[in-house]
Amino acid sequence: MRKFRPASALFVLLLFLLSGSCQRGTTLVQTEAAAVTTLVAAENMDEYDVVWYTTSSVQAASRPIFVDPNRPAVALTFDDGPSKYTARICSILREYGGKATFCVIGNRLQDYTSYAKAAYDLGFEIVGHSWDHKNLSTLADYQIEEELNRTQNEIRTVLGANPKFFRPPYGAFNQSVKNVSEASGLAILMWSVDSRDWASKDVDAIYSKIMNNVQDGSIILCHDIYESTADAMARVIPALVEAGYQLVTVSELLTIADKSVVAGKNYNHGRYTATTSADETYDGE
Ligand SMILES: [Zn+2]
Repeated sequence: MRKFRPASALFVLLLFLLSGSCQRGTTLVQTEAAAVTTLVAAENMDEYDVVWYTTSSVQAASRPIFVDPNRPAVALTFDDGPSKYTARICSILREYGGKATFCVIGNRLQDYTSYAKAAYDLGFEIVGHSWDHKNLSTLADYQIEEELNRTQNEIRTVLGANPKFFRPPYGAFNQSVKNVSEASGLAILMWSVDSRDWASKDVDAIYSKIMNNVQDGSIILCHDIYESTADAMARVIPALVEAGYQLVTVSELLTIADKSVVAGKNYNHGRYTATTSADETYDGE
């Protein structure tokens, strides 16, 4: 009879742990397969996007995403979509095991439902960016309320999500916006690194702006409505991963920074005090 060996017990334990992680992996793959099917079925998607998305995301599906609270992390955020570039940005993120937060305009959700649904199903975070991109700081309270609630309702209806944040257009908010957002149960999402992609529309400039300013805890502002931004992400995302950053959603970033999300408060970074202040007179798109 063979003697009990600690090494055998370790082997059995490893097998047990592996079988557990395989099951989780299978669930993830199934969810992703469903999301990819949704994307392929999108009527307003061109062939290039379909090919790009299906190949890279299916390959990436075997790699589950875990967030390690002890490693540096940043949150990429994309405003003004969804658009036809959203899927491509999602697929680059998935290829490198990353996630992001999309700040969508309420009245665009009907036209790009499949893109938003696929992004949400893949684990990306979706929050509102107003109904029609009005400067909320110029509106009366009831109008601010309508902008926030209409968008929030649309996100609930289309995606089944219930975001805790919204991003004000132009990053513009005043005390009225804070009061209404508090009453609506929403926190204000700002940023600490501005890619200024809307201004430059240039891959090199977007890359430099992000890579020269990023640090652990950064919330990075981009827009998923420009081809140049999607092109830049093909360089920025691998570079951030190479530099050791985990690419997480805003909610994940604040969770690992031990920050609770409070309605009416504004957040522009995760772990550290940001050196770049959010610009309240932001003149972007
Ligand atoms: Zn915007």
